[in-house]
Amino acid sequence: MLVRGYELRLQMPKCSPFAERSSATALLLNDIGAVLPYLNAVLPEARYAPNAPALTFGLDGHHVAIWPREILVSSCTGEEEARAVLDEVSRLVNETWERRDEIEPDHRGFEELTALEALRLLPGTNCRRCGETACLPFAMKLVSRQADIAACQPLFEPGCEGKCEELLGELAARGYRNSGT
Ligand code: SF4
Repeated sequence: MLVRGYELRLQMPKCSPFAERSSATALLLNDIGAVLPYLNAVLPEARYAPNAPALTFGLDGHHVAIWPREILVSSCTGEEEARAVLDEVSRLVNETWERRDEIEPDHRGFEELTALEALRLLPGTNCRRCGETACLPFAMKLVSRQADIAACQPLFEPGCEGKCEELLGELAARGYRNSGT
């Protein structure tokens, strides 16, 4: 059994169309990173980011992201639903790991986000509140995983909900770990 247990944490995302829903994070007791290329092979819709490393996919209306020591599940109504989804993900991980001798691992990664794509989804005011001289250098650091999206506070303020939701979705789909989700 690869997933041997986890500690559960629930948190409210900073911007979400489901304000009453929370994200669940399972802090894993052991490293499961070796299973990611096998999951990438068996889940046709999964997006694998070898550099993170992380793998993301949709499951019953939830966004699931798996890192070596963590599993995140979006849009949970509470602990009961979070545990049910996490148990299903754990089952998938364990079954895939048990069958790994029959599976050809897929190490190919999902297309990375470019700085210009990220720039399009930032507020674009060049206000410098993130500590950078403008939005473009922040976007460049963001896509190279050297900056946290939470540093762009204007993105989380009223008027930017659409961009915020889309950018967090693009980052989450590629396994970016940041405190904005
Ligand atoms: S805080 Fe956000 S809007 Fe302001 S310069 Fe930085 S990236 Fe641009």
